[in-house]
Amino acid sequence: MLRNFVLFLSENKSLKKFITNFTLIKEMAGRFVVGDTLQEAVPRVREINKMGMNVTMDHLGEHVNDTEEADASADAYLNLLDTIQKERLKAHISIKLTQMGLSIDREFCINNVEKIIKKAREYENFVRIDMEGSLYTQETLNIFYSLREKYDNVGIVIQSYLHRSEEDIMELIKKKGFVRLCKGAYEEPSSIAFKNKKDVEDNYLKLTRLLLDSKILNEGYYPAIATHDVKMIIGVKKYVREQNIEPNKFEFQMLYGVRRDLQKILRDEGYNVRLYVPYGREWYAYYLRRLGERTDNVTFLLRNLMLD
Ligand SMILES: Cc1cc2nc3c(=O)[nH]c(=O)nc-3n(C[C@H](O)[C@H](O)[C@H](O)COP(=O)(O)OP(=O)(O)OC[C@H]3O[C@@H](n4cnc5c(N)ncnc54)[C@H](O)[C@@H]3O)c2cc1C
Repeated sequence: MLRNFVLFLSENKSLKKFITNFTLIKEMAGRFVVGDTLQEAVPRVREINKMGMNVTMDHLGEHVNDTEEADASADAYLNLLDTIQKERLKAHISIKLTQMGLSIDREFCINNVEKIIKKAREYENFVRIDMEGSLYTQETLNIFYSLREKYDNVGIVIQSYLHRSEEDIMELIKKKGFVRLCKGAYEEPSSIAFKNKKDVEDNYLKLTRLLLDSKILNEGYYPAIATHDVKMIIGVKKYVREQNIEPNKFEFQMLYGVRRDLQKILRDEGYNVRLYVPYGREWYAYYLRRLGERTDNVTFLLRNLMLD
């Protein structure tokens, strides 16, 4: 119920305008978003790197409706790649296809993404294509497969709440498509997604076992396990111990601002940890998805709004 409500809010355009200018909420979004600009993001990324963790940077934005906006997003990523290189940051990038114009025109979108991947390849950098709502799942995978045939510095995301994910992962492993596995952040119908928390978790652990197969890891396959869920992390650690998988064969990923304690524990235990670090003015939809993941976040926000 609560999740549906915040997701509904995240798609409401007039509310978006009002809320984006709302200073208090913006300050609170600062827990999850490092700043409006790349200049603000760079020192934070450097600090994270100094703490022994890598980063994937997200220039916030999604669902752009005109080509100028999509081109501006692509340019922002090209500039980001230059900056990562110049500042010697240990950072990859994460992009969304709807930010690159997927809803406008498929070829236009691919062209934008390809520019980014080529530039990243020049710098030996890596581009992760985030997974959005199920309306885009198949198209995102199709585009990913066509890009993966030409480039090896591109990866994808799979969501354990979708029924189809096991089959997708089998196919991706066959085609050497590097996967970031997450639970999934959108509201999906029960016809295509597990609605029960335990089913999502069981599927998550099942899928990690496919991704952490020692044979494919020894061939250079490098999965990313994206979660803050202690149960998932314990399950993964137990599995890699049993299978004698070295910690450098995969990485844990977490969101900036979530479970900092766990991030440090995993780093201290010798695991590779990468933080997803978003920046930019389009923080609204991202912030509301983070709110929707935790009831406490919503009550905290509402309490602060009422006290204001
Ligand atoms: C690196 C990364 C990339 C991601 N990329 C995508 C993507 O491309 N597509 C997509 O659909 N989803 C993506 N997600 C989001 C993901 O799908 C989940 O919605 C999110 O990670 C919460 O799931 P969880 O595994 O942490 O488990 P949960 O059961 O939701 O959370 C476990 C614990 O983590 C903490 N926690 C989790 N979320 C929050 C929060 N927002 N605020 C405060 N505490 C929190 C709480 O302590 C909670 O008890 C990504 C997540 C990560 C970490």
